[in-house]
Amino acid sequence: NTKEIQFNGLLRDKSFINGAWVSSENESTFEVTNPFDNSVVANVASLGSLETKNAIDCANEAFKTWSKTTAEERSRLLKKLYQLQMDHVEDLAQILTLEQGKPLNESRGEIKYGASFIEWFAEEAKRTYGDTIPSHGVDKRIITIKQPIGVVAAITPWNFPNAMITRKIAPALAAGCTVVIKPAHQTPLSALALAALVEKAGFPKGVFNVITSDTAKEIGNEFTSNSLVRKLSFTGSTKVGKMLMRQCADTVKKVSMELGGNAPFIVFEDADIDNAVDGAIASKFRNAGQTCVCTNRIFVHDKVYNTFVDKFTVAVRKLKMGSGFDEETAVGPLINKEAVEFVDGLVKNAVNEGAELIIGGQKIDDMGNFYPPTILSNVNSSMEIFKNEIFGSIAPIIRFKDEAEVIRMANDTPFGLASYFYTNDYAKVWRVSEGLEYGMVGVNTGMISTTVAPFGGIKESGNGREGSKYGMDDYLEIKYLCIGGI
Ligand code: ADP
Repeated sequence: NTKEIQFNGLLRDKSFINGAWVSSENESTFEVTNPFDNSVVANVASLGSLETKNAIDCANEAFKTWSKTTAEERSRLLKKLYQLQMDHVEDLAQILTLEQGKPLNESRGEIKYGASFIEWFAEEAKRTYGDTIPSHGVDKRIITIKQPIGVVAAITPWNFPNAMITRKIAPALAAGCTVVIKPAHQTPLSALALAALVEKAGFPKGVFNVITSDTAKEIGNEFTSNSLVRKLSFTGSTKVGKMLMRQCADTVKKVSMELGGNAPFIVFEDADIDNAVDGAIASKFRNAGQTCVCTNRIFVHDKVYNTFVDKFTVAVRKLKMGSGFDEETAVGPLINKEAVEFVDGLVKNAVNEGAELIIGGQKIDDMGNFYPPTILSNVNSSMEIFKNEIFGSIAPIIRFKDEAEVIRMANDTPFGLASYFYTNDYAKVWRVSEGLEYGMVGVNTGMISTTVAPFGGIKESGNGREGSKYGMDDYLEIKYLCIGGI
């Protein structure tokens, strides 16, 4: 197959279980399509609960030895995997754009970003220190040790088909856990390409397994009900996350949830407007607006409102829409037709409710999954678009007059993932940072994601932190040893 040769053997269409590439028992498959033109890219094995149970059994078997390896040994394998991912940036980026649609340069960025988690946790593997605690009794001594939690099941979304996986599996493997992952059915190829690299790096069989399927519910049911799975790590919608949390209750699994957001982006009257425009473009239109930390609501102070809207509009007009494989493209297609219908509905409703359409706002008939960059002005907190995670290239702008009012409006949502604001007043930097009910705050920047900082949300945006020195904790248990008779 020429495509396979093209991607150096990284284009795979079977699941990866216990070190082997497997089809489904009944040979069933599902189509993976290119969001640019809906052409079929591959037919991938669609597995069910039986194969999932088997993968969990294998991961459990592998855990017995993997959890006993030295941190040094796990670190060495992870470093090898990191190097392989870096050696194949171009192959992996091409596969990613093919199945996901984002501009190739963003895909290259994602592969490097994804690799950085593998490198980081290869290093952190060696630093899972315990404590020695001053004792409560003269004849006793107290210490804590950290141990891997066990088999980890992971469910990941289509918007970052590589990085959302490495961000989970790198700390899990570094900690000594084994993993079974189910990628989104829209983007399984990036997960399988990663499995091919895991195989090449020489990880023991059963340590890393990928279940591909288009029956997410069935796989999710097995993941959550199987008592061998000790931890579920999920990135996706709040709706599915809540359901999975409920399902995990019966076996009291530890969970990490990285769910939806409704990020505010606040431009104060003393902000550097040009910087704010750059930040808004970066945080709004990256991945065509399909990230959970994308700006969802832009609040602009009355005094700088018109200036900001004018400059922002000029910048948005320059964004070129097109195929991710065209190096000039800034905004690729949305993931599918339903996504286009959803954002189109939000725009239509907002206009009906009194918002002013500045630019965009029209579906493009001969470009299936595209929706043009759109600016809506005069949006207010009662509108549907204010309350929903847009997940598309629509920028709603809201006018405000004072600090307390804008903090209240920004917090007026069940979500609490990312937030952004621009000001040159250092006292305001502290006040507003402390006042925003969000897990992450970008001050005078629209780009906050990095391996070295803890990524995660509060409220209905989830729990747990990914990346940073805290990222390992989600995959470790603390055991307390009380040693008496001394
Ligand atoms: P999105 O809107 O980004 O597709 P989802 O939450 O639907 O968000 O999808 C995120 C991940 O959750 C995907 O891997 C998807 O297949 C999976 N998923 C969707 N529904 C379920 C379910 N009922 N049980 C388990 N996983 C699910």
